[in-house]
Amino acid sequence: MDIVSFEQAREIVAREVCSGRRLPETEAVPLAQAQGRIAVEAVAADRDYPPFDRATRDGYAVRARETPGSLRVMGQVRAGAEFSGELRPGEAVEIMTGAPVPAGADAVVMVEHTRCEGETVVLERRVREGENVVPRGSEAQAGQAALAPGRRLRYPEVALLASFGHSAVRVYRRPRVSILSTGDEVVEIADTPLPYQIRNSNAHSLAAQVTRAGGEPILLPIAPDELASTTGLVERGLEADLLLLSGGVSMGKYDLVERVLADLGAQFFFDGVLIQPGKPLVFGRAREKFFFGLPGNPLSTMVTFEVFARAALELLGGAAEAPLRFTHARLASDFRHRPGLTRFLPAMLSGAGDAAVLNPVKWQGSGDVVALTRSNCLLVASANREEWKAGEWMPVLPL
Ligand code: AMP
Ligand code: MG
Repeated sequence: MDIVSFEQAREIVAREVCSGRRLPETEAVPLAQAQGRIAVEAVAADRDYPPFDRATRDGYAVRARETPGSLRVMGQVRAGAEFSGELRPGEAVEIMTGAPVPAGADAVVMVEHTRCEGETVVLERRVREGENVVPRGSEAQAGQAALAPGRRLRYPEVALLASFGHSAVRVYRRPRVSILSTGDEVVEIADTPLPYQIRNSNAHSLAAQVTRAGGEPILLPIAPDELASTTGLVERGLEADLLLLSGGVSMGKYDLVERVLADLGAQFFFDGVLIQPGKPLVFGRAREKFFFGLPGNPLSTMVTFEVFARAALELLGGAAEAPLRFTHARLASDFRHRPGLTRFLPAMLSGAGDAAVLNPVKWQGSGDVVALTRSNCLLVASANREEWKAGEWMPVLPL
């Protein structure tokens, strides 16, 4: 048995996947379908950004050293137009937000700080050189790489690609993820379970999590707790980019997953993590594919996917990094647990920012899907600490 801490397990997953991954093929997708995908290539600016010295306020383009004072208004420049002349001493040009600052001007005085007297504008305040102007090329220069490869495309990246004139973008193919549930008691969700059977919820929650993380789920048939058929299904699962197994990794007599994988020549990086739920988690590689043996209790399956397998999936999909995105909230009441395990417990987060409040949700242990649907996050209790007081900040993993 090779049991590691939560932090060690995160490190091992990132290290092994980054050094052992073969990146997926690539494809070009229209910008409208780029959301959530991972960029293959660096994207360079097609011209300077902004392409001209851009006014950020409505007001008057001036020479800063002539403020405060009175200047002669020579004309106007609006967004989408250009002032043809050059500003000379004693002159100002009325300017609108988004318009190019005329040659000779070096600042913009906000209209709120001016008074018009016929052909003359009175500038009531001093402005600094460059005030209310974004200089040409200060955001990005023509040819400069503005988007790094391996970057996940979210709406800011979509805005960037649109600005640079890309109607399509090259991304990695979504990794294919086999999902294999094990257990003699587990039946398909369309079946009517006998009193001692349960429906296969794990395959479906995992499929949802895989899709959300940018992968393509492939649901395999349920493997009974028996060597030959489990082996056959695991072999099928290893044809995908990543294999997720649920159940069969504890110490029970019929927990066969590790044995089946070992017989297929698997290398195990760990087979236990000091967390709850999800302690018997297994991570390894067989036939050049990574796999996770996720404990079968539904909350264990969901938590171990979210904190470990998700990172592997993102990295396999070409992402340059896969950090865990914690937020923080203040505890509504005192909290204590037994140190030694990092715990991920169902909780309800309300409010935002400094007013974010965290309430643990009552649950019946790691099979309690009902309690999890009454939660919107997992509170994360460090393995090294026993007590937190009401009002203290705690890390939270949104669901
Ligand atoms: P195991 O990890 O195989 O020992 O299973 C632990 C618990 O999770 C047992 O109560 C199982 O019935 C339950 N379980 C296992 N697989 C699934 C599944 N696919 N869907 C829902 N519950 C499961
Ligand atoms: Mg089982």
